[in-house]
Amino acid sequence: MRKKIVAGNWKLNNTLDQGLKLASEIVNMMNDEVKEDVSVVLGTPFIHLSSVSKITNGNANLHVAAQDCSTHSSGAYTGEVSVSMINSTGASHVIIGHSERREYHNETNEELATKVNLALEAGLTPIFCCGESLNIRESGNHEAFVSNQLSESLFHLTEEQMSKVVIAYEPIWAIGTGVTASSEQAQDMHKALRAYLATKFGQASADNTSILYGGSCKPSNANELFSQPDIDGGLIGGASLKSRDFIDIIKSF
Ligand code: PEP
Repeated sequence: MRKKIVAGNWKLNNTLDQGLKLASEIVNMMNDEVKEDVSVVLGTPFIHLSSVSKITNGNANLHVAAQDCSTHSSGAYTGEVSVSMINSTGASHVIIGHSERREYHNETNEELATKVNLALEAGLTPIFCCGESLNIRESGNHEAFVSNQLSESLFHLTEEQMSKVVIAYEPIWAIGTGVTASSEQAQDMHKALRAYLATKFGQASADNTSILYGGSCKPSNANELFSQPDIDGGLIGGASLKSRDFIDIIKSF
């Protein structure tokens, strides 16, 4: 049975104090209100990882993620943060290949394959992001484009390694725009990606891979999205910054 997962991506938001306040609110609300077996991941800026990990480690369903990692393990790479550094904070996950990093930092599928390898070697769970632009969606090539993102960054993995990867499908045109993919559009893509994973890793592996939807997911649309057979949860940007909204999304399964 694949896991239900809701991951928040705080992006470039929250000072340390603000982040600790938000994380504490989420921990308290999770403990009081969330009865379902849902894995919840807080994707914080690097500087929050250690302190947020300490706050969350009493709840086995709560995890902490970095939003990126270096393609290098160590050395003269000013400003970079390695997977072992992330691991040493108590974080267990790392978001890899978010569309904002692909766009603003020119991250390529090949570099992302390196990041996935390093994350797995360090024992971190990669949340691998994929998704198409509006132009590609309108050209009708979206399934081929996103499938190629998977094959170039993930298809070198063994089935065992793949079992540790979470995928987040995030159509770029839906991220932070208020425009959500319809549940049908999202389900169609998730189904296609699962079928594509099966061609490489086998049906059992594909059936066990959690595929999250991301793009303007909020309390009002989460239930419809999460009710789709191939949608296993969400990667949440804006709505993860408000504890009430984030918890209501977690309670939407
Ligand atoms: C994201 O950036 O991963 C995201 C899904 O953002 P939002 O929920 O704000 O669209």
